[in-house]
Amino acid sequence: MEHSSKQTSARLAVDLSAIRENYACLSRIASRAECAAVVKADAYGLGMEKVAATLADAVQTFFVAHPEEGKMLRAFLPKKRIFILHGFLPGYPEFMTMYNLIPVINSLEQLKGWRSFCQREGKEHPAALQFDTGMSRFGLSCKDLCDEAVIDFRPVLLLSHLACADCPEDIANTEQLRRFLNMTAAFPGVPRSLSASSGIFLGEKYHFDMVRPGIALYGLTPGYESNEFRLAIELEAQILQIRQLCSGDRIGYGLTYRAERSMRVATVGIGYADGIFRSFSEIGALWKDGIRLPIRGRISMDSLSVDVTALRSALLREGAWLSVIRSKQDLMRLADSVGTISYEVLTSLGYRFDRFYRG
Ligand SMILES: *Cc1c(COP(=O)(O)O)cnc(C)c1O
Repeated sequence: MEHSSKQTSARLAVDLSAIRENYACLSRIASRAECAAVVKADAYGLGMEKVAATLADAVQTFFVAHPEEGKMLRAFLPKKRIFILHGFLPGYPEFMTMYNLIPVINSLEQLKGWRSFCQREGKEHPAALQFDTGMSRFGLSCKDLCDEAVIDFRPVLLLSHLACADCPEDIANTEQLRRFLNMTAAFPGVPRSLSASSGIFLGEKYHFDMVRPGIALYGLTPGYESNEFRLAIELEAQILQIRQLCSGDRIGYGLTYRAERSMRVATVGIGYADGIFRSFSEIGALWKDGIRLPIRGRISMDSLSVDVTALRSALLREGAWLSVIRSKQDLMRLADSVGTISYEVLTSLGYRFDRFYRG
């Protein structure tokens, strides 16, 4: 990596060619279905504008969660289809037509609001309809399907979302599939979409007409072991100071770590405000040239300390870059340290460090 353009002691490299390759791989696996791209939450923290531009040649359909995200995405992609997973916000259906966005209608109330809006406008604006097939989160329930607002409605897409797709053996998957087939039977000919990333690996039955991967675009495939997908990020941070400790010296807030011998410690410019969870203290490590550098003491807001005794002195200088996340395993370890998932790590990565784009 070249020099940072931003004056920060941490930098995130985003590999756009990895995203393109991951997308190609997903399209191949779900070959009979259209492969859309989910770029909500600033493309899971990787930067929506760059990710959208990277995928624009291959992808026709994008998904975001908030209407505001759709408005931003529309500015980068004037011609693509953009679905808004949350639908329109209560009282603001015109926001959808203003930016040419397609709401995912999630409740009867939203559906009624949308239909009266379309009536006022004298035009059937496109909308998708979501069904709840088991998560009790978004979408119409079975009993809603008898409502007259539903009966003659013609959505452009029918969707639902799997709760346990990262556990291929879970019977909840087949149960949700069964319900989805039942619920969508009332809309013959309307395209259907059930699977996000993990669902794609459950097999063709789960692909329908469109799949909606998010995390797999960025290289992570929960519930599915694969080397075909490449992690699209690399996070590095800089050594800001190096010190020699004597046996008995302590490190960090609470003085929780005590040196058992003389050691060299580097203070590195990345902390929990950048998404390196404080509970990663003592468990985690940074890396340089394949050498593991254990984190010692508590992680601070803007810095952490690593044991660099094992590093050759030639590599040890203020300003040297150390790897924080360079592989899926690093990312999973960080997630495991707080009992969370890769999604939360990615979307927790801070916004104050420099973001680079390669490929
Ligand atoms: C976030 C989201 C996706 C993408 O999920 P991944 O697991 O990241 O692939 C797809 N569909 C819906 C409804 C979502 O909320």
